[in-house]
Amino acid sequence: MGYDAAIIGAGAEGLAAAALLARFGARTIVIERADRAGGRLATHEFHPGFRASPYAEELPPIPAHIHWALDLSRRGAIFMPLHRSLAIWPDGTSEIDLRSDAPSARLLRHCADAAALGVARAMEPKRRSPLRFAFYPGRSSSGTWPQVQLATQRLADLIEQSVDNPRDAAHLAAIVLAGRAGDPFREGGAAHLLAPGLGSGGIVLGGHARLAEALLDAAKTFGAEIALGLEASEIRRVSRNNLQIVLADGSAHEARAVISTLDVKQTFLSLFPWNMLPRPLIESAGRFRFAGAMARVLFALARQPEHATPETLRVPVHVQPDMVGFAAAHAAWRAGSMSARAQAVLRVPSALDPSLAPPGAAVMTVTLGSVPFRLFDGAWTHERRAGLRGRALNAAESVWPGVSATVLGQEVIVPGDIEEALGVSEGDLDGGEIAPDQLFELRPWPECPRTPIEGLYLGGRSASASVLGTCAAGAAAAQCVLADFRRLA
Ligand SMILES: Cc1cc2nc3c(=O)[nH]c(=O)nc-3n(C[C@H](O)[C@H](O)[C@H](O)COP(=O)(O)OP(=O)(O)OC[C@H]3O[C@@H](n4cnc5c(N)ncnc54)[C@H](O)[C@@H]3O)c2cc1C
Repeated sequence: MGYDAAIIGAGAEGLAAAALLARFGARTIVIERADRAGGRLATHEFHPGFRASPYAEELPPIPAHIHWALDLSRRGAIFMPLHRSLAIWPDGTSEIDLRSDAPSARLLRHCADAAALGVARAMEPKRRSPLRFAFYPGRSSSGTWPQVQLATQRLADLIEQSVDNPRDAAHLAAIVLAGRAGDPFREGGAAHLLAPGLGSGGIVLGGHARLAEALLDAAKTFGAEIALGLEASEIRRVSRNNLQIVLADGSAHEARAVISTLDVKQTFLSLFPWNMLPRPLIESAGRFRFAGAMARVLFALARQPEHATPETLRVPVHVQPDMVGFAAAHAAWRAGSMSARAQAVLRVPSALDPSLAPPGAAVMTVTLGSVPFRLFDGAWTHERRAGLRGRALNAAESVWPGVSATVLGQEVIVPGDIEEALGVSEGDLDGGEIAPDQLFELRPWPECPRTPIEGLYLGGRSASASVLGTCAAGAAAAQCVLADFRRLA
């Protein structure tokens, strides 16, 4: 059967794209290999009675016009913004409250505003000229987006220019590098400030799966078909105007437009026979760098950590961040090993959302950064996972002594698990390393969401708009498809 649009992947981006296309009357199908929609928004029970959203602690904001167009609050997705963050050292703390007038908060607000401006630009359907860093220093007022410094400066320098207090500076670097591998002293590392961080997003009450349900409801209500449990295995051109998605069970769907929400490597190097793609496209997809670096340990606790104030339990807690430590951890990660100085961020999601744990109990998560996808000396064995669990518990003990004795169960997630669960290259949830040569017009090429394959659009985490917010890349791809349909009508 022929569709106007077929979308690969029913995560936030695919569902948003489907809802928007169907709302404008396009016959749309979404193909999802898992039995449930949601992708990264999954919330699952990792120990009897304990639930967590293992692939996303916080969601970058959904652009307001998409939120309203899809009526997400009425469909049950209630957001709680997060404004505060804490960093703890043995001899002191740093607190950043995004609503304050502190220099660190001002810098984060500036970046969040820059991202919002970028979303507005990404949504211009007639946009032929790509999102770009503004390379005009003379004109770089606060309205120029995003300023060239983010593409050229070191993260440490840019932060230290704005933030005098070294603890706040290290804390700020920890916020933007959380769950990633990044060297604050590398030129161009300031681009990390555009990655969603504190204050630009929040959590969904009841777990992020509620957002997936709301998006799914919107897509179905507007008339999109959602096909679950079906893996796309190949994309073929069947006529000048139509592409065909072949599924793993041998069936196929034809559509005038295909939106892939898979990353650039999965889309081009696994869904197309290589001889069908132009050589430059294969080369640029092959060159795109991935930087999966996050491990997360989910803990089921018999009770909330003792000696912790309720306020500390409601915010992310960065454990002893330091810029030199981040650089060392990044160097070790590049070599396929782990530094003892890798970042750790503690959270107690059940303190914000008690529905995640039984009464009196708690869910604690520890996010570790600079964790290699491939270890230089072998696989992620059971013992090595146990080592990560030990690191995570040490970090938690340094802040909340006695917490280890309350652990009832845990799950350790390494980048390879993320690749397997979501089909994400090297477990890189950002869809590619965050670096100036891989952002905006270079993520992955200037025409994105259009691709060099006529009728194929990129709408997921590797697309240029994805860095700017949840649903932004899917919505930008949908807008582009609609604009092209109108142009060709
Ligand atoms: C720098 C950066 C930072 C970000 N930070 C965050 C953050 O902190 N928190 C956050 O939530 N988001 C963050 N995002 C945004 C995030 O990557 C996406 O917006 C979104 O959360 C993931 O949605 P998705 O639909 O693209 O992918 P997914 O949610 O992964 O969905 C993809 C779906 O495709 C399915 N699939 C895979 N292969 C196939 C196949 N062959 N056939 C059919 N189906 C298949 C998978 O099962 C999955 O359901 C960030 C993005 C960037 C670029």
